[in-house]
Formats: sequence, C-alpha cells, structure tokens
Amino acid sequence: MVSRVVFGRGSFNQLSDILSPKRLNVKAPFIYIVDDVFKGNAWLTSRISLAYADQLIFISADEEPKTSQVDELVEQIILSHKDRPSGIIGIGGGTILDLAKAVAIMLTNPGESKDYQGWDLVKTPAIYHVGVPTISGTGAEVSRTTVLTGPEKKLGINSDYTPFDQVILDPELTKGVPKDQWFYTGMDCYIHCVESLNGTYLNAFSQSYGEKAHDLCKEIFVDGDGTEEELQDKLMMASWHGGMSIAYSQVGVAHAMSYGLGYLLGTKHGIGNCIVFDHLEEFYPEGVALFKEMKKIHNIEIPQGICSQLDDYEFDIMIDVAMGLEPLWENAIGKNWKKSITREKLKALYQKM
Ligand code: NAD
Ligand code: ZN
Repeated sequence: MVSRVVFGRGSFNQLSDILSPKRLNVKAPFIYIVDDVFKGNAWLTSRISLAYADQLIFISADEEPKTSQVDELVEQIILSHKDRPSGIIGIGGGTILDLAKAVAIMLTNPGESKDYQGWDLVKTPAIYHVGVPTISGTGAEVSRTTVLTGPEKKLGINSDYTPFDQVILDPELTKGVPKDQWFYTGMDCYIHCVESLNGTYLNAFSQSYGEKAHDLCKEIFVDGDGTEEELQDKLMMASWHGGMSIAYSQVGVAHAMSYGLGYLLGTKHGIGNCIVFDHLEEFYPEGVALFKEMKKIHNIEIPQGICSQLDDYEFDIMIDVAMGLEPLWENAIGKNWKKSITREKLKALYQKM
C-alpha cells in the first residue's frame, strides 16, 4: 500500500516540504517526470522548486508507457547524474504515474524492465517515489502495478515495491482535463468497480472499497451531485477507492480485451475500456446498462468499427494478449474459464468493436 498520502485542494503546495527531508545529498537529485500538457503552465510548474542537480523531464502522454522508454529514461538519468536520485516524482495521469513507478524500480534493479513484467519479480526496493495525479480514474496512484507495453506483452510490473511511497491528492490539479478524457478515464474507475464487485476474487476488503467507489461514480456521472469542485474531489477519491478495490482482487473481461486493443492498435486504456465494455452485456448486464445511461447523459460517442479492417493474423495477436491474462479471466469467470472463453468467442466480440 501507499505509505503516506495528503489530500486537499492546494495540497500540491506542500511538495517541497514533503520532499526536502528525503534529499540524500546534494549530488542525489529529485527527478520530476511531468506530463508535457503542463509545459509552459506556470500555475503548476512554478510550484516545483528545483535545487542542486534536480531535473524536470516533460514527457508526452500521447502514447502509453513502453518498457523501452523506461529503460532509456533510466539510462539517461544514470548518465547525467553523479549519484542515484533521492526520489522520482510523477506528475500527470496514469501514463506518467506508471512511468515514474517503473523508473523508480529500474534504478535499483538490474536488467531490462521487460524482465519484470509479471507478478512479484522485483527483488530490490525501488527509489523513493511520489505520485501526483492530475486526472482521476485509473487508480494508478494507489495500485501495486505499473502497466507497460513490452516487446512481447502489455503487462504490469506487479510488486510490493511498485506502490508510491507518497501520494499528493490535489483535486484542483484536474481542472483542465478535457470532457471526453474526463469521461474515459472516469469510466476506467467505474469499470474497475464493476469488474471487482462481480469477480470471483472478491473479498470483504475489495468489496468495501469497490462499493464506495461505485456509489461515488453514480453521484458523479448519473446524479451530477455537487458543484464542479465537489465532483472533482469525489472523482479523485473514487479513483483511489477503485484502485484499492482491485489491489486485493482483479479486473476482468473489459481490461483483458482492452489490453489486446492497446497492444495491437495502440488504443489508449480509458477509451479502449469504454469500446470493449459497451459490448459486454453478457458478462456485466447491470454494469453495462448503467454505462450506456452515463454515456447518454454526457453525450459521449464511443468510436465504432475500429476492428473492421483487421485480418485473422491481427485478431490472433489481440486474442493472444487477452487470453494470456489468466488471473483476469479467472476472476471474471472462475477457475474453469477456458471452457467458455474460446478464441472464437473473443474474435466474435472483437468483430463488434
Ligand atoms: P493519460 O495519463 O494518458 O492522460 C490522458 C490525457 O489527459 C493525456 O493527453 C494527458 O496529457 C491529459 N491530461 C492529464 N492531466 C491533465 C490535466 N490536468 N489537464 C489537461 N489534460 C490532462 O490517461 P489516464 O487515463 O490517466 O491513464 C492511462 C494509463 O494508465 C494507461 O497507460 C494505463 O495502462 C494506465 N493504468 C494504470 C493502472 C495502474 O494501476 N497502474 C490502472 C489503470 C490504468
Ligand atoms: Zn483500468
């Protein structure tokens, strides 16, 4: 679990105070990995105070993190500083938060990041790392995984060393998020809840967080219950609870199939989940019905026909990625999932998308 967290509008102002006791020495910098959407945004960047060899690296979130990108960043950091960093601070959405987590792990673990995609393969604690979400929904700020696309698979580095040591939850930072993206990333949280609450891995821990996040999603996306600021606050906490819910259970069908789309077509996580979930009535009847209602309320068009031009070889790639995520299927369907989840079934579903 994340060991320290602060919450509140304006809490981002505490960043320097939080970091300064963690500085190891003047040669060991803090490295800030920041979404490049904030380049030139003085409102945010003026509150990051660089000292000694500290470095701010702007990174685009246009593409989701890759293992090669993590390895390059780590090499660049090692080559440009005399000491290992005092800390890595990720400021952005799931893409940037996951990059920050992966870089912190790979600064202390030998080899390439692709070698650690899987469960509990990381042996050495990561460098101190801090997460500051600027868009709510993924739960990446609280989870024990960092999802990376590697040469062979899209899979997380799931480990006890992955979670942030410190998270700053400042809902004010989410104020500039475009509406469609707000919906897609918000729906990631909603889908986490549906998949967790309807999964065979569910336990009292996951259920308590999942139900709270699900209720908050309804208040936000169905009832519109609150001012704009209150809704931002609620979505940030929904994301946190949704992430906590899957920490002790698993996601399900939408995520497995969305990873296939992401791997082959580069479809981003939030929108990819929406594209898939729209067709999953069979697995999650109530969850999908409410999703369709929320889509309508917010006037959101989900892309159609993204698989219409694909050939059999390409369908096979997506099916391989999706079916490789065994724990997700086991959670969604049960131990005997292979009896009902066949390649033909997944192909037929992908063909609808
Ligand atoms: P994202 O980080 O890709 O950001 C989406 C878009 O919103 C980007 O264009 C970004 O620049 C923009 N943005 C972010 N904050 C903004 C702000 N305040 N104002 C204006 N624009 C802003 O999207 P996401 O949905 O947060 O994250 C998706 C990623 O998260 C995927 O890589 C996915 O695999 C990962 N993920 C990780 C976990 C986990 O547990 N680690 C869980 C779910 C998803
Ligand atoms: Zn997700």
